[in-house]
Amino acid sequence: MYDRLSPHAEEFICGSEIEDTLRYAADNCRNKLLIKRILDQAEECRGLDHRQALLLLECDDDDLNRRLFSIARNIKQRFYGNRIVMFAPLYLSNYCVNGCVYCPFHLSNTSIPRRRLSQDDIRREVTALQDMGHKRLAIETGEDPVMSGMDYLLESIETIYSVKHRNGSIRRVNVNIAATTTDNYRRLKEAGIGTYILFQETYNRLTYEQLHPSGPKSDYCYHTEAMDRAMEGGIDDVGIGVLFGLDTYRYDLAGLLMHTEHLEARFGVGPHTVSIPRICPADDIDPADYDNAVPDSTLRKIAAIIRVALPYTGMIVSTRESQASREALLEVGVTQLSGGSRTGVGGYAEAGGDDGSEQFDISDRRPLDQVVSWLLDNGHIPSFCTSCYRRGRTGDRFMSLVKSSKIAECCAPNAIMTLKEYLCDYASPMTKDKGDRAIKELVDAIESPHIKKMVAESIARIERGERDLGV
Ligand code: SAM
Ligand code: SF4
Repeated sequence: MYDRLSPHAEEFICGSEIEDTLRYAADNCRNKLLIKRILDQAEECRGLDHRQALLLLECDDDDLNRRLFSIARNIKQRFYGNRIVMFAPLYLSNYCVNGCVYCPFHLSNTSIPRRRLSQDDIRREVTALQDMGHKRLAIETGEDPVMSGMDYLLESIETIYSVKHRNGSIRRVNVNIAATTTDNYRRLKEAGIGTYILFQETYNRLTYEQLHPSGPKSDYCYHTEAMDRAMEGGIDDVGIGVLFGLDTYRYDLAGLLMHTEHLEARFGVGPHTVSIPRICPADDIDPADYDNAVPDSTLRKIAAIIRVALPYTGMIVSTRESQASREALLEVGVTQLSGGSRTGVGGYAEAGGDDGSEQFDISDRRPLDQVVSWLLDNGHIPSFCTSCYRRGRTGDRFMSLVKSSKIAECCAPNAIMTLKEYLCDYASPMTKDKGDRAIKELVDAIESPHIKKMVAESIARIERGERDLGV
C-alpha cells in the first residue's frame, strides 16, 4: 500500500500508486479548469504533488503549456536569479562489479580499459581542474569494494581538498557513488562532502531488475532506500535523478516526485538537487537499443514541471546534453551545469584526455571558458560559489533561506565575487571583458546600499589578489 512516510521502498514508491497516477493524468488531461487551478498553485510557488505534475505532463493544450513554461521561468528568476552554478565530474575509478546494461563500466565489458587513480594521479587531475577554474567537483566511481572501497574514497576526498594550486582550491566535493550503509554515509559526512548524489535510474521495479541483472546494485530496495540511509547518516543535502530513456518518462517522473515527497515527509527536507540525464552512446552502449527515448521537447517540459513542482530544489544538467539542448533547458529552470567535463579516468591531466575509459560520449565538448562566455552571452551569471555548504547552510537551513527569498542577499553577491575570481585567474581576455561588463551592471542594479558597498569593496579586494570572500 502507498505510504509516503514508510521507510520501505515498495511503500513510498508504490507501483500501483504510479499506475493510478498515470490513469488519473490520462483521464483528466483535457480538464482545463483543473489544470488552470494547478497552474495557479504553481504560480504561487506552492509546489505540486506527483498527481498534479503528471496531469501537467499529459496536457496538450498550447496555451496552458505556454503558461507552464512562463511560470517555470519566473520561479527560476525569483529564487535563483540569473545564476548558474558550475561544476565538473571527476572520475576516480571505472572498475565495477555491477551488471548495469546501459553503462559501459559494467563488469562483463572487456573492451574498456580499467583504471583507478592513485593519490598522485588525483593531485594531477585536481590541479588541472583548478587551472580550468573549477571550485566544485562531483566525484564518480564504479562500484567495487576492493578497487574503490570507502577507505580509498575518503583518502581521495582528503587529497582533493588538500590541493591548493596557485589561487585554486576545490571548495565543495559532491559524491556520486553506489548506495552504501548508514555508517559509510556518516563517514562521508565527516569527510566534508557536499551533496551525496545517487540516481535511481528507473523507479519501475520490474525494469530496474531487468536492467541490473547482477551485482549489489541489483537489489532494488537497497538502492531505492539509499537516501533514507544517507539522511540517517547525517547527510542532509542529497541529489536524486533518473536516467531518462530506460523506462517511460511518465513513470519515472511520477517516481521521482514521490521520492521527493517521501524524503520531505520523513526527514522534513527534500532533495537538494534533481538531475535529468538521458542515456547517451558509450563504448558498448547504443541508446537506439532502448525504446523509451525522450524527445528534446519532452525533456524541456519535464524540466519546467520539475521547476514548478519543486521550486526550492536545484536542477542539474550535464554535458550529456548538447549546447542547444542545454540552452533550452536553462531557459525553463535549470540551476547547475557542468562544463569542460571529461568522463574518462584521468581525463583532465592527460594530453588528449580520452583513452577509451570514458563512461559516455559527451555532447557538449566545449572548454569551461567557452561555456562561461556562452552563459554570459545568454544573460546568465556563471557562479563558482560554494558558500552555503561551507557556512553550514545545508539541508533545511538552506531550504528555509531559499523559501524566505533571503538567498538573494548572499547568493547574488557570492555569484558576483566568485565570477570575479574566475575572470581574474582563468578567463580568456574576451570572456574577462564580457564578465567584467556583466558584473558592473549587476553591481549597479543592487538595491541595498549596504550590499552594494560590500560587493564593490570585495571586487576591489579580489582585484588586489585576495580570494574566497564569500558571505
Ligand atoms: N556507479 C555509481 C552508480 O551507478 O550509482 C555512481 C556513478 S555512475 C558513474 C553515474 C551515473 O551515470 C549512473 O547513475 C547512470 O545514471 C549514468 N550513466 C550510466 N551509463 C550511462 C550512459 N550510457 N549514458 C548516460 N548516463 C549514464
Ligand atoms: Fe557501475 Fe554505476 Fe556504471 Fe552501473 S552505472 S555499471 S554501478 S558505474
